[in-house]
Amino acid sequence: MSLLGNRAAVVTGGARGIGLAIATAFRREGARVVIADLDKAALEAAHAELGGGDDVTTVVSDVTRADDVERMIATATDRYGALDVMVNNAGITRDATMRRMSEDDFDQVIAVHLKGCWHGTRAAAAVMREQRRGSIVNISSLSGKVGVAGQTNYSAAKAGIVGLTKAAAKEVAYLGVRVNAIQPGLIRSAMTEAMPQKVWDQKLSEIPMLRAGEPAEVASVALFLASDLSSYLTGTVLEVTGGRFM
Ligand code: NAD
Repeated sequence: MSLLGNRAAVVTGGARGIGLAIATAFRREGARVVIADLDKAALEAAHAELGGGDDVTTVVSDVTRADDVERMIATATDRYGALDVMVNNAGITRDATMRRMSEDDFDQVIAVHLKGCWHGTRAAAAVMREQRRGSIVNISSLSGKVGVAGQTNYSAAKAGIVGLTKAAAKEVAYLGVRVNAIQPGLIRSAMTEAMPQKVWDQKLSEIPMLRAGEPAEVASVALFLASDLSSYLTGTVLEVTGGRFM
């Protein structure tokens, strides 16, 4: 039996990278998936990559806007009759040391990651509490555990997602709704491929498993958290890091 048969999921930032890998894993296990992203062209390509058809729906939307997030969730409930899984994955980086980071770079990163995650968690929980079931998966980062120089904005947002996840998990646990987070380490994607080689090599040297992770290796953990395999897990943070900063 498939792990997500007859379930409906929303994945933000689902047009590429880790989000697309999560949507792919969910589709493979029978879920119908709404992928939401800012990038319309990438969404169209992702729709085709996911096999097209009615079981995948794309929504151009911005997670920093509450009304956009409401719309992506309404798309799932209207088209698929429920919202079983919500993955808050959309993200950006605006790295710079504090000396150089603009206030706008700080605000944008907090808005996309922390506020976007709050919008998604809040709107999904509102539907899931009525259903008396659901799993919310928030994508944090190892940067939120250890703090990374040049990422005061990103580390703060990703640490904030951990607090948000635990607080939300406590609010909705008795309603059958679970909220968990994942902290990926160095994962190969457009976000990390933009890194200078020197920075990549430094990060690689910190990983006991001696390699970067693939988006599919984060997706399989998201699948675990989304499915009933993790039915007694809530408020947890799973590190997908090859052992880095364990
Ligand atoms: P990516 O840049 O490949 O994909 C991010 C996606 O989010 C893009 O499709 C982008 O268009 C979308 N997006 C950005 N802002 C948005 C907004 N306001 N509304 C809707 N969509 C928006 O990055 P990725 O590496 O796949 O990262 C996915 C998540 O994983 C992010 O939250 C990131 O912080 C986290 N993460 C990544 C790594 C890594 O090593 N790649 C490590 C730890 C955490």
